[in-house]
Amino acid sequence: MNRSFRQLSVSHGPEEVDVLVIGAGQAGLAACYSLARTELSFLIVDRHSRIGDSWRRRYDSLTLFTPRAFSSLPGLALEGDPDGYPTRDAFAHYLETYASHFDLPVHSGNGVARLERRADERFTAQLDDGRHVVAKAVIVATGAFQKPIVPTIAAGFDSAVTQLTPESYHNPGDLPPGTVLVVGDGASGRDIAAELVLTHEVMLAVGRRRRLFPERILGKSTWWWLHTLGLMRARPGSAIGRLMRRADPFPDRDRSLSDLEQRGVAVSTRLVSSQDRLAFFADGSKRVIDSVIWCIGYRDDTEWLQIAGSTDSNGSFLQTVGLSPVAGLFHLRSRLIQTQNATRVASATAERKLRASLS
Ligand SMILES: Cc1cc2nc3c(=O)[nH]c(=O)nc-3n(C[C@H](O)[C@H](O)[C@H](O)COP(=O)(O)OP(=O)(O)OC[C@H]3O[C@@H](n4cnc5c(N)ncnc54)[C@H](O)[C@@H]3O)c2cc1C
Repeated sequence: MNRSFRQLSVSHGPEEVDVLVIGAGQAGLAACYSLARTELSFLIVDRHSRIGDSWRRRYDSLTLFTPRAFSSLPGLALEGDPDGYPTRDAFAHYLETYASHFDLPVHSGNGVARLERRADERFTAQLDDGRHVVAKAVIVATGAFQKPIVPTIAAGFDSAVTQLTPESYHNPGDLPPGTVLVVGDGASGRDIAAELVLTHEVMLAVGRRRRLFPERILGKSTWWWLHTLGLMRARPGSAIGRLMRRADPFPDRDRSLSDLEQRGVAVSTRLVSSQDRLAFFADGSKRVIDSVIWCIGYRDDTEWLQIAGSTDSNGSFLQTVGLSPVAGLFHLRSRLIQTQNATRVASATAERKLRASLS
């Protein structure tokens, strides 16, 4: 029987469970849904004070690019048209409802400050409030979009240039009037450029060529095709898995570069350097700007993971299809909710190993 951490006494030493899940986003909640159907005792901890906060912190106008049918977690469908797209807040609310619907033992507002391996091969997690949890196995579900990357070029702009990321940008009111340079043409860069062009002069600096796919093919959502053809379930190491990862596709919801240009966004080549208020581009052009939004990706936050062999020299998690080289440590990471298919592949393998490590 699983108990909520909130109900536990702090005076009786560390809490002991079979499995500790770190992170109560989609991956962590889906893992707990499965764990709740076993005899294993488990806890899930999350640093945010409310489930869904990793969505609430993103820009106000964010609407998911995966339809409800492909954004729902196991056992509980998102309410509304399965072909429609949930807003950021609706999705955050869904995650909260999901946890309470299945009575998952989520302990919010308390992250793992440090995770260590003990001599008896169990793990000790020290939480932000100083309490400890001892677990035989740990599932890391801390997300693939943790820390927005700000490149070294940023240091060349002077303090008159406002600099934000998709996490610190919420709406056009955050920016001074004038020219905004959005760097990076992934889904968030394009969303933000499309929104800002209504109020500002906008430049979008693009990187490698991105593939956008049509929203629907032969009357069906393209996500349906990707799912039905097995492309989303491909193992990350397989040829198709590698292709999907390289393509990192997202649907063209009026976000092609030509659509954006028609709406007034000035699409430029790669940003190569900066000086004071000047941005210099790969084609030799330059432009005076007033603000910049860095939408060039994210990196892992692994400082809390103090176990030899669990991270590489860049500080990224070491894992293959969800398995860490450290026995008993598992990773559930989905670049898309959709790729819980990929996550499922990983978790099926992980589950076998998890059971083996607990037996
Ligand atoms: C701007 C943007 C738009 C996106 N739009 C879509 C979309 O439309 N459709 C889609 O499928 N995907 C989308 N994604 C990707 C989507 O966010 C991820 O697929 C999804 O959030 C992954 O879920 P997760 O559970 O792995 O991670 P998250 O949802 O990020 O959850 C990780 C959780 O771990 C917690 N955590 C982190 N570190 C610790 C710690 N040390 N201790 C305790 N807790 C910790 C965090 O507080 C967080 O709640 C988008 C991403 C971004 C950045």
